[in-house]
Amino acid sequence: MTQPAHFQVAIDGPASAGKSTIAKILATDLKYVYVDTGAMYRAITLAAKQAGLAYEDEAGIVALLPKIEIAFLPGEPVQHVLLNGQEVTEEIRSTEITNNVSLVSSYQAVRADLVDRQRALTDQQPVIMDGRDIGTTVLPDAQVKIFLIASVDERAERRFKENQAKGMNPDLETLKKEIEERDYKDSHRAISPLTKAEDALTVDTTGQSIGQVVATIKQIIKDHQ
Ligand code: C5P
Repeated sequence: MTQPAHFQVAIDGPASAGKSTIAKILATDLKYVYVDTGAMYRAITLAAKQAGLAYEDEAGIVALLPKIEIAFLPGEPVQHVLLNGQEVTEEIRSTEITNNVSLVSSYQAVRADLVDRQRALTDQQPVIMDGRDIGTTVLPDAQVKIFLIASVDERAERRFKENQAKGMNPDLETLKKEIEERDYKDSHRAISPLTKAEDALTVDTTGQSIGQVVATIKQIIKDHQ
């Protein structure tokens, strides 16, 4: 195992386990760069929609990849996501994109392209990267690997509150079903499915506050420095 030159923290786990909330706080506190890889897969999915392509059109989506530029800009409480220079932070979280991103992210060439972009972001700086395949595939030598989980009921409940806060009128059972479906697709795809890396530590956030989870992971990072 080669130790990466700049410190790497990989956080993987199922949908709505709190990965991006926790990763963002840790990155701010520790002055690491936060890379939200889910936002990158979402941006590709949105680019397909904007181009008028069907999500099933793998060849069409793959042909778009060289023309897609994804950038992150600092922001509070979330980073801004730019797709070809256009702000798409909110749009990539719409129900349509959320329910189709698993299909688009199952395409081999989409994954290969994004994994290259993700690794390039670790060349110059310490990073906290969250996703589904960070510990297993993108950063296999990361100094710290966390597998963040929570019960599906609690994850649906968190998503429910988030959607309500956005002025939506969510249905808890529908959200629960969508989360379960996305987890199923993400863990059963052929290429780098969602799975815990052998050397990852599982952190169960069920019943825990954000502050408690941040403190737990900070301690783990400290133990590995
Ligand atoms: O993390 P988030 O829920 O925003 O991720 C959206 C989707 O992007 C996931 O459901 C998964 O299909 C895909 N994804 C992935 N690999 C990653 C990160 C996200 O396949 N590393």
